[in-house]
Amino acid sequence: MSDRIEEHRVFGTASTAEFRDSLLAWIDRHRAELEPPYRDHGTTEQLLSHQRRVQRLLFDEGWMRWGWPTEVGGLGGSPLLRAVLGEQLTGRGLVHSAAFSMTEVLGPAVIEYAPAPLAADVVPPMLRGDETWCQGFSEPEAGSDLGSLRTTAVRDGAGWILQGQKLWTSWAHHAARCIVLARTEGPGTGSRGISCFFVDMDSPGIRVRPLDTMAGVDEFCETFFDDVRVPADRLLGTQGNGWQVAQHILACERGPIFWQRASWLLHHLEEIAGMAEASDVAAQRLIGSAFAEVSALRARSRSTQRQVAAGNLRAAESSVDKILIAAADQAVFDAARQVLPGVVELDDSPLADRYRKEWAYSRAATIYGGTSEIQRDIVASRLLNLPKVP
Ligand SMILES: Cc1cc2nc3c(=O)[nH]c(=O)nc-3n(C[C@H](O)[C@H](O)[C@H](O)COP(=O)(O)OP(=O)(O)OC[C@H]3O[C@@H](n4cnc5c(N)ncnc54)[C@H](O)[C@@H]3O)c2cc1C
Repeated sequence: MSDRIEEHRVFGTASTAEFRDSLLAWIDRHRAELEPPYRDHGTTEQLLSHQRRVQRLLFDEGWMRWGWPTEVGGLGGSPLLRAVLGEQLTGRGLVHSAAFSMTEVLGPAVIEYAPAPLAADVVPPMLRGDETWCQGFSEPEAGSDLGSLRTTAVRDGAGWILQGQKLWTSWAHHAARCIVLARTEGPGTGSRGISCFFVDMDSPGIRVRPLDTMAGVDEFCETFFDDVRVPADRLLGTQGNGWQVAQHILACERGPIFWQRASWLLHHLEEIAGMAEASDVAAQRLIGSAFAEVSALRARSRSTQRQVAAGNLRAAESSVDKILIAAADQAVFDAARQVLPGVVELDDSPLADRYRKEWAYSRAATIYGGTSEIQRDIVASRLLNLPKVP
């Protein structure tokens, strides 16, 4: 163990404020190494390779290991330390919040449900940025209605054979592993007949086709599984309880990760406010209401972080965070369009490229991780116990 890690071991019991102060001093010393080498939005390739460099540095110096269990290469301590790290990196624009949060979306479920030797083997390279992971849930005809997915996994000796297609698999073309939901029971078994697998993306039979989007962000893929062999020890949880694993992942994706996204939004809102004319009343109004939306999100997210740190990852409650992030995200980048009229739409500058892509991506905030309509339905039925509309 390096002296650097030994020096930071104290944070296993220290307050988040002390952790933050020490982290900030470290960031200041390493600022040049942490800054992205591009001024525009960056391609997915640029963004991920920069993130890998940053994660490697953070891991080797200990920062990326605090808040993660020692059994999977972490240094222990409260998960709040992870939230502070994400907040400080995204709040300075040092990593992109969407890609950086994949660690928090998929890592906890692998720790919870993978066989212990597998988790100990695969989590450290993911934390160190040596591996990118992706999430193979959605399919054509199975997005909101995930329980109707048609990809199958059939027993073959001690292992499984996967067959099917996934859609909107973010970062699949750069990923080393994919967490795949597949049907292991017969058709018509809905969410009860699904299992979850941890699949190597270099397995024979996997084909990835990148998709273009309106946002110009080259993140999405279609992922095809054609007789892909998966070893028995790659089952997450038990056969037929993939829905439980999926709910764990979705609870992370709809709630805890937005603490760092809020920080990313404030970073941009500050930049937008700095470019706005004081006399532009419409812009000032949009900036003010965007600040209110982000503040509401942060207030909610703060309590979510504390719940997670206390061991209460709450699935239905995370839908509230998901609804709030969509409003905050869109409000921030709508303000940018008002402050940079014509520039966001037409200009070729790095600044315009960045805001054009962020604005377009923010339209997807009501869709990714489950649409706002579905989240409102969950809040109405599971949190408020409102009667169903016939
Ligand atoms: C930026 C982004 C990243 C993504 N990354 C991934 C990824 O990495 N991995 C992955 O597996 N998936 C990913 N997705 C897919 C995402 O999870 C789905 O797009 C989402 O769940 C919606 O499914 P769908 O697109 O099939 O829309 P549909 O389910 O077809 O919905 C279409 C419309 O109908 C509405 N609707 C559907 N059912 C109901 C209902 N019962 N009540 C009311 N309204 C309803 C929806 O709200 C929506 O407005 C990503 C999506 C985006 C936008």
